Parts: sequence; structure tokens; C-alpha cells
Amino acid sequence: MGFFVPDYYFDTVYEVTPELLKSHGVKGIILDIDNTLVPYEIPEPTEENVAWLKGMWEVGIKTAFVSNNHKERVELYNRELGCPAFYDSGKPLKKACKRALEAMELAASETAIIGDQVFTDVVAGRNSRLGCAILVKPIKDKTNLFFRFKRLLEKPVIATYKRRTKKKEE
Ligand SMILES: [Mg+2]
Repeated sequence: MGFFVPDYYFDTVYEVTPELLKSHGVKGIILDIDNTLVPYEIPEPTEENVAWLKGMWEVGIKTAFVSNNHKERVELYNRELGCPAFYDSGKPLKKACKRALEAMELAASETAIIGDQVFTDVVAGRNSRLGCAILVKPIKDKTNLFFRFKRLLEKPVIATYKRRTKKKEE
């Protein structure tokens, strides 16, 4: 179970601050797009997305997009941002993060992953031995059966996270 449990679980990506990342020695972030930064149907970054990304860049934290979505989606989202961006990336496989690490010229231990899916994003981070794996609540979920099933499987993982965090606070 430990493998699946994220280091942090937040309501939104905006709770991830440069200070938090720096406390883990993180110099770069591998970012999921869909349901982490924007819902599936929003093709371009929101103003909030841009402000948050700029806040990272200003303190020297690099960002790369690693998405399992298709080329057009990823390229359109990244058009104005110009970050290293990878589509059809095959998360949670190790190869998904490899190219992003190379593009950012960072070691795995200096890199965090942020995404909304345990078995895709958190596991990708674990497979690549990234320094930090951060789970965020999905912005707006797809409601099909496959997605509902995946969310159901995530529940015990999130419960474990909450139990552990509670213990730490006590
Ligand atoms: Mg996602």
C-alpha cells in the first residue's frame, strides 16, 4: 500500500507552493494536465494556471507536462507556455517520466509529480523514483463506469494517506 500512498493530497494544485517543494529539494515538477490543471473540456490554461506556473518559474522551479492524452490536446494546452510537454506518455510506466527528466535536466530525486490519479500519476512517480508524489482532487470527473471504478479503487489509498497524516499531527 505504501507504494500507492501519495506524499501529499490536496484539494487543488494551488496548494502546492514553492516552499513545500523546496523543503523536499524539488527543482522541477512533472505535471498532469487533465483534471489536475484544467477539466478535460478546457483546451487552454486558465489565468490561475498561468499565475501558479509563473510563481514556480520565478523561483527557478521547472515544469514539464506529461499527459496520457493525445498530441493536439497537449500541444494546444502548452502552446503559449512552451514547457517540455509529452503526450500519449504511457503513465504509470517509467518511460513516461524519463523524457521529462531529461528535458528539465533534473535527477528523479529533484523532481515531483502532480496529478489527480493514484494508479496513473502517483504510481508513475513511484516507478521513476521521483522525490515527491502529490495527488490532487480531480477538478471534474468523467462519470463513465471505468472512471468510477478507478476512483473506487483509489479510496483505500486515500484513506491510508489521511490516517497517516492524522497520526503525524497527533
Ligand atoms: Mg489527470
